[in-house]
Amino acid sequence: MKNLVILGGGYGGMKILNEILPNHLPEDMTITLVDRVPYHCLKTEYYALAAGTISDKEVRVAFPEHPRLNVVYGEVIGIQTTEKKITLKDAAPIDYDDVIIGLGCEDKYHDVPGADQFTYSIQSIEKSRLTYSVLNNLGPGSVVGIVGAGLSGVELASELSESREDLNIKLFDRGKHILSAFPERLSKYVENWFVKNNVEIINNSNITKVEENLLYNHDQPIHCDVIVWTAGIQANRIVRAMDGDKDGMGRLVISPLHHLPNDEHVFILGDCASLPHAPSAQLAEGQAEQIVEVLKRRWKGEEPPTSFPQIKLKGILGSLGKKHGFGMMADRAITGRVARLLKSGILWMYKFHNG
Ligand SMILES: Cc1cc2nc3c(=O)[nH]c(=O)nc-3n(C[C@H](O)[C@H](O)[C@H](O)COP(=O)(O)OP(=O)(O)OC[C@H]3O[C@@H](n4cnc5c(N)ncnc54)[C@H](O)[C@@H]3O)c2cc1C
Repeated sequence: MKNLVILGGGYGGMKILNEILPNHLPEDMTITLVDRVPYHCLKTEYYALAAGTISDKEVRVAFPEHPRLNVVYGEVIGIQTTEKKITLKDAAPIDYDDVIIGLGCEDKYHDVPGADQFTYSIQSIEKSRLTYSVLNNLGPGSVVGIVGAGLSGVELASELSESREDLNIKLFDRGKHILSAFPERLSKYVENWFVKNNVEIINNSNITKVEENLLYNHDQPIHCDVIVWTAGIQANRIVRAMDGDKDGMGRLVISPLHHLPNDEHVFILGDCASLPHAPSAQLAEGQAEQIVEVLKRRWKGEEPPTSFPQIKLKGILGSLGKKHGFGMMADRAITGRVARLLKSGILWMYKFHNG
């Protein structure tokens, strides 16, 4: 039996399984899925988990079942491409014929002293649970500093302001306007929402140091009872430790067919892969479809295509609490209840198709 190993059952890994398992897995092949969590996690909802507005169970989706799918619950600690071997913590190594690396991303602290030690995170389920616990145990009037007002920082600040109206939330951002990746009209809409909902935005900030309960903005200390870091991401440390060219986010440079340029048996997926887009769940899924196409052609003894068309992204939607939202769909800015309804609808559809 040949073994296709998938590292990480996130959005990319799940899409690979859902595309292959129903009827495309060759008879002489098994799939081994390795994840440190025993179910697929809806990372796009971690802001709500941390804010305490949804339960843990709502972000879990069971992995699919199949007689030739072996799910291994464990921590990947190394990938030896020359020996075609995956090393796990406290478990036997796994041999592969092909491996797909979809281990997601981690926070990037931009060398700000103390940021990794004294801030909380929403980049993994374990860290989001911890963040939930500290945020929700705060007393009334406590100060929460959120560093970084991209999509995840904005979603966390808005959700938390609805969940805990008694908290004093400060949202720090480097730009003149928050949500720098979006058109200014959208940024202003979201800023107005924050003004109405008592979230303080600190624009043009430059976080120079973090200490316990102290955030230094332009070297000026600001007391915060809890600090959450949402100011940047980089590829998973396992990928950053691998040989090969990487981009500024530590994502591995890949061939047009999504494998390492010098190894056609090692595919790099989702937040781990250097692609000409910002990392997203949609991108990971689009890429997964193309990887499956390469594998299917190879399994049939056919030549894979030499390249693929650019992955089409439908747009991006963000929430402002449970009733309002914002986003870009087909290059059009949308705001308000319709944007929020669309976002909820997409989540519902995802759960329906994967649950
Ligand atoms: C708050 C928030 C909101 C977001 N909103 C959106 C959105 O609205 N739309 C959108 O498209 N994207 C959104 N994103 C981004 C999106 O979640 C990621 O781009 C997406 O999850 C990437 O998918 P992936 O398959 O590459 O990795 P992930 O989904 O992160 O999966 C990685 C998997 O690897 C496992 N893993 C990691 N390290 C190890 C290890 N060492 N050993 C074993 N297992 C390991 C993890 O447990 C996880 O299951 C959001 C992100 C956040 C944080």
